[in-house]
Amino acid sequence: MNSTDNFLLQRSLDDVRRRIAEACARVGREPSEVRLLPVSKTVATARLREAFVAGLTELGENKIQEACSKAEQLADLPLSWSIIGHLQTNKAKYAARIAREFQALDSLRLAAALERRLQIERRCLDVLVQVNTSGEASKFGLAPDSVAAFMQELPAFSALRVRGLMTLAVFEPDTSRVRACFRALRTLRDQLRDTAPPSVALDELSMGMSGDFEIAIEEGATVVRVGQALFGPRPLPDSHYWPGLGNSTTTPRQPG
Ligand SMILES: *Cc1c(COP(=O)(O)O)cnc(C)c1O
Repeated sequence: MNSTDNFLLQRSLDDVRRRIAEACARVGREPSEVRLLPVSKTVATARLREAFVAGLTELGENKIQEACSKAEQLADLPLSWSIIGHLQTNKAKYAARIAREFQALDSLRLAAALERRLQIERRCLDVLVQVNTSGEASKFGLAPDSVAAFMQELPAFSALRVRGLMTLAVFEPDTSRVRACFRALRTLRDQLRDTAPPSVALDELSMGMSGDFEIAIEEGATVVRVGQALFGPRPLPDSHYWPGLGNSTTTPRQPG
């Protein structure tokens, strides 16, 4: 870690914030309505210390083992961890221990496992329900038409504070298909508001990553999960993180 890295991070951060503000301005939203969740997977803890100095206190990780190891190494900092990737039921205990937020809830079995572990830890967890808006078999998440029934079951889990929905759009250059995924999540959220139990809040829409966060903001995102646009390209192709993608490149889609 050196001051050049720090300078670059500050520049990327300023740039991402400017792009968020511009996307908001295009659709008459306030930048304060959009939370920037920095995604730190593969980024070394030394750089995350610098990120903390630059003001980033929330970090998103998609693998629970990596999140646990970083949380332990950075335990001296007041960071809060968001788990944004698929979680196996047998790993629920780790998320219950370290995470403030879990964005990829997609089964009642997992909800039950998290609830049990959270009770033991005497903790609560903010959760978003992951929806597969693209219909791709490689993506996790509930089918849109099964989310309403799923929501009805969630009040049984008192340690889970349901905040909204999360999705990943298709990875492809055709922005109209990307936009359709985001629009589908928002439409679903608006529909669910009529039927969701009172304890289930549906304020948050977590959608948009480095390559598509501006489109997501135009379609109503309240949380954007941004990794590479802040921390630089990852060493491994995205197929490592999302099995089934083939050798898709890590290069973020450019806006516009
Ligand atoms: C890695 C990841 C992101 C961020 O992707 P970038 O291209 O680095 O912005 C967002 N969401 C999830 C679920 C991820 O795993």
